[in-house]
Amino acid sequence: MLKGYVPPYNATVVQKLLDQGALLMGKTNLDEFAMGSGSTDGIFGPVKNPWSYSKQYREKRKQNSHSENEDSNWLITGGSSGGSAAAVSAFTCFAALGSDTGGSTRNPAAHCGVVGLKPSYGLVSRHGLIPLVNSMDVPGILTRCVDDAATVLGILAGHDPKDSTTIQDPVKPFTLPSLTDVSKLCIGIPKEYLTPELSSEVQSLWSRAANLFESEGAKVIEVSLPHTSYSIMCYHVLCTSEVASNMARFDGLEYGHRCDNDVSTEAMYAATRREGFNDVVRGRILSGNFFLLRENYENYFVKAQKVRRLIANDFVNVFNSGVDVLLTPTTLSEAVPYTEFIKEDNRTRSAQDDIFTQAVNMAGLPAVSVPMALSSQGLPIGLQFIGRAFCDQQLLTVAKWFE
Ligand code: GLN
Repeated sequence: MLKGYVPPYNATVVQKLLDQGALLMGKTNLDEFAMGSGSTDGIFGPVKNPWSYSKQYREKRKQNSHSENEDSNWLITGGSSGGSAAAVSAFTCFAALGSDTGGSTRNPAAHCGVVGLKPSYGLVSRHGLIPLVNSMDVPGILTRCVDDAATVLGILAGHDPKDSTTIQDPVKPFTLPSLTDVSKLCIGIPKEYLTPELSSEVQSLWSRAANLFESEGAKVIEVSLPHTSYSIMCYHVLCTSEVASNMARFDGLEYGHRCDNDVSTEAMYAATRREGFNDVVRGRILSGNFFLLRENYENYFVKAQKVRRLIANDFVNVFNSGVDVLLTPTTLSEAVPYTEFIKEDNRTRSAQDDIFTQAVNMAGLPAVSVPMALSSQGLPIGLQFIGRAFCDQQLLTVAKWFE
């Protein structure tokens, strides 16, 4: 729909970086309209994970007698901001921007071995970011270390008159103190995040990380986020409903693609949207319009908003009980080969992959994925820290101690 489109103004985040002397290297690939968890669904084709070509991974595959045909073995980056994660991981830039509505910055960061930060909702302006779910979208930051993420956040954070959801408070500088003593910290481990789909390697790294904090004197406790299991369903209703509304602007009249059909205005709209959107986007528009039908609105959309509040309150309760940060996996497993990823229905896969990241967006909290270790296949695995709303600096300080 927006192929070849050149926007007439810069997003606030881009302008702020340019104002500080940053060099813009280019735009990166992603899933169409940021819908996806693989970066396999964009008009420019899928994004390849740079780790597909690491010596260690290739040797492991050889040992396991997989074919050495590189072209068929390449790994997905995760998504939807996979191009940004790949660009940072391959050392082609210092930092990259992504977007995070349900995990799109943290998921590819974990798969590409980089840091992926989703700031608190309201800390960074969304002006110029194409909306997916307005009430959950946040510009994300991808870097190779936590300090770099803090530097970029320091530039981006702050009130923007063009985004009324940004906070008014003056923003403190985001230089991170070095934490030497974690003994006053309380780390929460949400028990609902131990799902059967979690790979055993990710699970054991997660407990290793918890043990590390404990052995350094931090208090590590099991906590409960009881509404976690509703999060994917709830997200689906809210996301598709907002998509149905947001995508209405792409009608072939104002901007973007326009088809040749000139039989009638209605026919032009329909054909433009059929040609201009992939089936993931079209599917979400259809689902969203279904949930928003007069007879469904109360039962789906309104109910999902109530469930969202319960999910958000779970986090509030845990933080009120004295927990400083939560420690969770970022993804169910390491990156998988493209050929495997596309075997399953992409939308189902996408939904499963967001299980640890999505609820955070419903609650507007800051979260960061930090590379933890390499798997037995030689691929990066990331863990996620979740913080209190607007305590991004504290969150990053803990993440820095850990990295
Ligand atoms: N995977 C989720 C989706 O497809 C989240 C996407 C995102 O964070 N942009 O909706």
